[in-house]
Amino acid sequence: MEPCVVLKFGEMALKGRNRWRFTQQLRGNIRELMADLGPLDVRQRAGVLTIGTPKDPHLLLERSRDIVGISVVCPAFRLEKSEQAAVDAGVELLRNRSGKTFAIRARRRDKRFPLRSNELAARVGAAVCQQLGLTVDLTSPDLEVYLEVDQDEILAYTEKQAGQGGLPIGISGRAVALLSGGIDSPVACYRMLRRGLGCDFVHFSGRPFTGPESIYKAYAHVRTLSRYQPASRLFIVPFGHAQRQLASAGAGRLQVIAQRRLMVRVASELARRQKAQALVTGDSLGQVSSQTLENLAAVESADTLPVLRPLIDRDKSEIVAEAKTLGTLEVSNLPDEDCCTLFSSQQAVTKARPAALERLERRLDEDLIEGLVDAAQMVIPAKNALGAESEASSPVHEPAAS
Ligand code: ATP
Ligand code: MG
Repeated sequence: MEPCVVLKFGEMALKGRNRWRFTQQLRGNIRELMADLGPLDVRQRAGVLTIGTPKDPHLLLERSRDIVGISVVCPAFRLEKSEQAAVDAGVELLRNRSGKTFAIRARRRDKRFPLRSNELAARVGAAVCQQLGLTVDLTSPDLEVYLEVDQDEILAYTEKQAGQGGLPIGISGRAVALLSGGIDSPVACYRMLRRGLGCDFVHFSGRPFTGPESIYKAYAHVRTLSRYQPASRLFIVPFGHAQRQLASAGAGRLQVIAQRRLMVRVASELARRQKAQALVTGDSLGQVSSQTLENLAAVESADTLPVLRPLIDRDKSEIVAEAKTLGTLEVSNLPDEDCCTLFSSQQAVTKARPAALERLERRLDEDLIEGLVDAAQMVIPAKNALGAESEASSPVHEPAAS
């Protein structure tokens, strides 16, 4: 019995004639995500992928649970395609397990196999009854063995674990995601990755007027998200001088919204350079004064790219629960000097008027956006926590180092 994992497609199983595109993307993503697991044996059947590797099967299983686009992950074995091999595997997989009743669930994907599904299940079941003394219960058994008869082999497993679900990352295009050190934005990014959107990340730091803490937090978030999207790129924009320029131009109570508009413009220019088609933010309607409908509209109108806001209808408590599951909450809760509160001592307006914002923006340097994009530093945080070093660091206008 050779260990492997069986992966079942999620929503992409429904994609009809486009399915080959989805599976091609998925297979590419798997190779990237598991590049360090040695030579992979990836095989595809209708609606199912199997992966085997001579290296660590536990690591293979762990990584399989991180593949976006897979709904079910089964730790499995490949068997020789024979009745005897199925009988032996059925007995072995149930030996010494706690439970008194069992069911064999057989499926014949290759109709040339001489036994029909129910015949195969009956023969394996009879051997289990005889050799292990267990009782058949097809309705609510304590234990189950799944046998799938394929072209070249039989796949056998006892357990179905939940995968990430969603669509393969990259299939829905690319976006630039605005990632702060806060709780919401990493959750928003994960949700969009799960919809198949490849993401580059941009963080605006108040440097040189704030410390580097928020950068470390954004870096840590990208590292967490790299479990799902390896080699994720983080662009760090030193934003402090631009914020001061806004304050000197008399932004007053418009400071926060004007900053958000600048962020959208810089992120959009970055997106164009990276051939991305949308922006992602962690906005939630009404959460803070910058997120009233009027202010969201004022921020969005700063550029033409669509702004995706997957958390728009979420309560804070729901987002916190998701951040906990994702594993970003602890880092988000660390103290930092948020750039948004720099130069904005007064309470923000709840209904920013576009004309007032435009008047303010006419007082800014003409090449402000270009300058900020050029000043961005790119890093690719390493995936693993131990010995994590960034892989590359270069200005955005130069080709990425890796
Ligand atoms: P939290 O609400 O948990 O403090 P947040 O990241 O949602 O964190 P908000 O002030 O609500 O912060 O900002 C709304 C959205 O604007 C963020 O989700 C993020 O997408 C974007 N944003 C805010 N500040 C920054 C920043 N410094 N760098 C990049 N994006 C930012
Ligand atoms: Mg928020």
